Amino acid sequence: MNYLRKELYSLIKSDESIFDFIQESSLDGLWYWDLENMEEEWMNPKFWTTLGYDPIKMPHKAAAWQDIIFPEDLALANENIQKHLTDPTYPYNQEVRYRHKNGSTVWIRCRGLAIRDKSGKPVRVLGAHTDITQLKRKEQLLLETNRAARVGAWELDLVNDTIFWSDITKEIHEVTPDFQPNLTTGINFYKEGESRATITKCIEAAIAKGKNFDVELQIITAKDKEIWVRAIGQAEFQAGECKRIYGVFQDIEKRKQAEKKLLESEEQFRQTFEHAVIGMTLVDKNGKWIKVNDSFCDLVGYSRIELLDMGFQTLSHPDNLEESTKELEEFARGERTTYLKEKRYIHKKGHDIWLVIGVSKVTNEEDEILHYVAQYSDVTERKLAEQKLLQSEIQFRQTFENAIIGLALVNKKGEWMTVNDSFCKLVGYSKTELKKLTFRDLTHRDNLGETLVELQELVDGKRNIFLQETRFVHKNGKDIWLVIGVSKVTDENGKVIHYVAQYSDVTERKEAEEKARRYSILDAKSKEMEQFTYIASHDLREPLTTLKGYLNLLVEEFTADMPKDAQDILQFSLESANRMDELIHGLLGYSRLSQVKELKTVNCNKIIQDVLADLSVLIIKNEVDFEIVELPIIQGYPLEVKLLFQNLISNAIKFRKKTTTPKISISYQLTPAGWRFQLSDNGIGIETSEKERIFHIFQRLHKQDYEGTGIGLANCKKIVELHNGEIWVESTLGKGSTFYFTILTKE
Ligand code: ADP
Repeated sequence: MNYLRKELYSLIKSDESIFDFIQESSLDGLWYWDLENMEEEWMNPKFWTTLGYDPIKMPHKAAAWQDIIFPEDLALANENIQKHLTDPTYPYNQEVRYRHKNGSTVWIRCRGLAIRDKSGKPVRVLGAHTDITQLKRKEQLLLETNRAARVGAWELDLVNDTIFWSDITKEIHEVTPDFQPNLTTGINFYKEGESRATITKCIEAAIAKGKNFDVELQIITAKDKEIWVRAIGQAEFQAGECKRIYGVFQDIEKRKQAEKKLLESEEQFRQTFEHAVIGMTLVDKNGKWIKVNDSFCDLVGYSRIELLDMGFQTLSHPDNLEESTKELEEFARGERTTYLKEKRYIHKKGHDIWLVIGVSKVTNEEDEILHYVAQYSDVTERKLAEQKLLQSEIQFRQTFENAIIGLALVNKKGEWMTVNDSFCKLVGYSKTELKKLTFRDLTHRDNLGETLVELQELVDGKRNIFLQETRFVHKNGKDIWLVIGVSKVTDENGKVIHYVAQYSDVTERKEAEEKARRYSILDAKSKEMEQFTYIASHDLREPLTTLKGYLNLLVEEFTADMPKDAQDILQFSLESANRMDELIHGLLGYSRLSQVKELKTVNCNKIIQDVLADLSVLIIKNEVDFEIVELPIIQGYPLEVKLLFQNLISNAIKFRKKTTTPKISISYQLTPAGWRFQLSDNGIGIETSEKERIFHIFQRLHKQDYEGTGIGLANCKKIVELHNGEIWVESTLGKGSTFYFTILTKE
């Protein structure tokens, strides 16, 4: 015997503390039981502390532990001890469970040894406890884990030719716990065909070449269920021979199902993606296309290959790029989860396309963005229509605002909804003022009835358009004449939404018409007058000629016999008769002037020459100084034009200043309206207040000092008017006068 062992054994015998140390430090409980007095049993302090009890308070009685051991384990312990007592070779060794003071279970490995007397009768039992709770817990956990993961173990012992299946392996096969497989029955669980062939090959290769395997195959369970399993096998070799193959066996049916589902849903997604009518793409975090479908290719005009080389940035309209890039960043920062917007892209052919784009992110379990799914629908047509509408709205608004004629939108109550500036100007009211008024307030009383009737017809659909010339009252109180056109604006069902009214100011035309009307009345009257004048003067000439004849006869035949007074009276009578003749002659000429004649080419230079020749005696006598420019050739009535110049020149000579040499200048100007002549003299001049009057018949300003009939300028006026022109005079009294006249006949 080893000397140390010998020494320790004797030490134990001599020193109790050594034994105490051993039992306290290496065991979790020690007991010593008196079989002759079965109530008595000594338990060491560790026995109780392991079970959570205070050793001082615990009695050294067998009943003390029998109370806290699990009843089924107590029965097992009793059974075992009886076997051990009768047969010393049967080991007293078992796992039992105690209830810890705190209620938990304490697993104890309990081993015992019977102490026998000399006759071999057992009198005592010495027992030792080891706390195996931790171990048990781990075992339990492993079992639970394996059960949860459906992982079992198996072993093929080639030496003893046995097969071991763990509980879970059996559960997976759906066999009873006491099922004992052999190699053939084990392999036969594998589904006939590929699965069974594979496992057979794997086992053979493991046995022959020590090749490990890890395969996924199908088995048919005892309950006839087809499931997927994973079998892992490892071969153990000793001396070049395979002794054992062991491994794990896992039920992977759920995973396979999930994989199948995933595959199916992936396929579904792929199909949806590929065949979607709308454009679809997968976009990476930088905006690059990872996957695009045919519809998207069609939308943007690029091929799949071209697109996979670029990102949305290439196709984005420059106006949208900055915004889109920002939005992508917002996605990356998690500020956005989805996105729906209308965006402009550029088609391969270069034109703009409008797409409605919906983007959502695809994330992994950690919520990290993997990529984006984007969907695109083409709304270009709608966008273009919208733009066109907008454009035409802008155009309409501009046309409306800038129209020269008045325009207004009128609602069904006749109120002005919108009016343009021209309308405001027409009626003198501001836009705000007009908002509070209706057409009834502005229409002239006398015209309102007619307007209302026609408007009603428009409302009733009896007419499509209202067009009327009517009178409004301007804000300043004056009447204005407007041509008003009103038409309906209807919705798609033909229902009236409002009216568009157009207003044109025709006041001027109306006034001109009124003037012309009055003028024509006057004209008729003056014609009547002329007729009368003509007849009267014509008829008066006959008796006057007779009177003049007799008076001349009297003068020639009887003057010598008459007293001086009678002679004078006779002379005066004769002069008056002559003057009367002159006047009647003049009147006759005046009334003849308006008779319609033929327009001819008139050389004004020639006319002046003739006039000056006719007036040569007068001109020479008065030493008249002329300044005449080269005059134009015009269209006119030659005789009348000559009379016109003759009257004006002879007046200019007649009304000269006595002290000054008469000076007459004649010139002309071509104006847009026609020829404008001017004839200036340095004569006595005319008072401003008389400038109009002198053109009326028989009006003379200097009756005493100058002879005349007062018909000359009236003739001039008539002649100028025959030529559609006007005549007027500018004059300074004492300095001279300038007569202007215009000839508007076309050449
Ligand atoms: P009459 O010459 O026969 O008097 P007119 O009709 O020719 O009649 O002229 C009307 C009046 O106009 C004249 O009486 C004269 O008082 C004035 N008058 C016409 N021409 C001139 C002129 N050149 N200078 C000043 N007064 C004029």
